[in-house]
Amino acid sequence: MKTDKLHIVGGGIIGLCAAWYLKKEGFDLTIIDKNNFSDGTSFGNAGMIVPSHFVPMATPGVIVQGLKWLLNSKSPFYIKPRLNADLMQWLWQFYRSANAQHVREAMPVLYALNEESKSLYKTLAAENDFDFGFEERGLLMLYKTHKQAEEEEALAEKATRLGIKTEILDTKGLQKLEPEMDLDVLGGIYFPGDAHLYPNRLMAQMTARLKQMGVQFISNTEVVDFEIKNDKIEALLTNDGREITVENVLLSSGSWTGTLLKKAGVKIHLQDGKGYSLTLKEPGVRPRIPTILSEAKVAITPMGADLRIGGTLELSGWSEGINLKRVQGIVESIPAYYKNLPTPNVEQSPIWQGYRPCTPDGMPYIGKSAILTNLIVGTGHGMMGLSLGAVTGKIICDLMTGDPAFMDIHPFRLNRF
Ligand SMILES: Cc1cc2nc3c(=O)[nH]c(=O)nc-3n(C[C@H](O)[C@H](O)[C@H](O)COP(=O)(O)OP(=O)(O)OC[C@H]3O[C@@H](n4cnc5c(N)ncnc54)[C@H](O)[C@@H]3O)c2cc1C
Repeated sequence: MKTDKLHIVGGGIIGLCAAWYLKKEGFDLTIIDKNNFSDGTSFGNAGMIVPSHFVPMATPGVIVQGLKWLLNSKSPFYIKPRLNADLMQWLWQFYRSANAQHVREAMPVLYALNEESKSLYKTLAAENDFDFGFEERGLLMLYKTHKQAEEEEALAEKATRLGIKTEILDTKGLQKLEPEMDLDVLGGIYFPGDAHLYPNRLMAQMTARLKQMGVQFISNTEVVDFEIKNDKIEALLTNDGREITVENVLLSSGSWTGTLLKKAGVKIHLQDGKGYSLTLKEPGVRPRIPTILSEAKVAITPMGADLRIGGTLELSGWSEGINLKRVQGIVESIPAYYKNLPTPNVEQSPIWQGYRPCTPDGMPYIGKSAILTNLIVGTGHGMMGLSLGAVTGKIICDLMTGDPAFMDIHPFRLNRF
């Protein structure tokens, strides 16, 4: 890629972060989105920046746990039973990835990516007059049972071996970190190196800044197909009948990227992992440190004066509806851990939903296509897309300029399965 024009399909966190670094290098950028850059998966998520999340979802043992969850309508995980070839292939690749060797190899890679991304967000928060609530208060994993304590302690041990700081805390230690909260737990692990931010603010401020810098934004326009000649995308075809001539294309279309790539003859494995969040506006009492309720797999994050509560992962194949039982499951877990945190009323609170772009092996797809010479892809970050947004944007920028990436990006190649 020698020219400096790029069309970005998808203005979520990955598309915006790529635009941020590319614009600084002088690229002529257009971002196209089927929505209007004001809502979507990159907005309502839990806002956690997580060097502590170095273990991919596919681990030995996760399949047995997943099957147990499938039997419980309020559990944090669900697969809608259906005969779908893409889902079957994804599940097969997930099963193949759930082994000790893959986990061993993935751990230092995911840690390095998250750590670098945190440092890029830190620079962004400090250098550019942004105010998106970036704070380094760490992350707490709370547990109630001895079984979960064993799992979390084993995780802390692995973390320590990677060089990640951890503290195993009893209730007294936890109470010191969260003096306002009346906790009903056995203990917790504290990862002081994690951070968090308010994603809605980050997305809005980045969009505004990119517009000021001269990036073109095309909203409410869906790319539905491509015009391809030889080994190049010549034009993007849109739902309103337009044909947009292109030089280079970045597909950062989140969970929709797989379907779109199929039209360009490129196969990746991607499923949409739906999740929900509720945002409590200025609750009187709230935790000050972002927290995961370990058994319930619920994330709790202070954002400005608000508190966001998020969870569940449903592989339900683009169902738009809200599964109230699962949202109820999220909300009901709160009083089991905090005796004094107000719980939202599910019937009356606005419920947000988003779609995590999930790969079978828990690694993102970041790289150039081996088939189409002017196509680059950035997607598949699953539960860590916000956390890995900045570093992914930087890697995409390096790929476009030809600068070496800060690490080996071979594990993220598109044709690895
Ligand atoms: C409940 C929940 C909590 C989460 N918490 C965290 C967290 O704490 N930390 C973390 O790191 N991650 C978290 N995530 C995951 C994170 O939100 C995602 O990984 C991330 O937002 C994905 O970003 P993206 O840019 O790849 O995709 P998206 O944000 O989905 O952006 C893709 C964009 O592409 C557009 N698009 C798609 N198809 C087309 C098309 N054909 N034409 C034009 N435009 C198109 C879409 O409209 C969309 O705007 C959470 C997710 C959920 C659901």
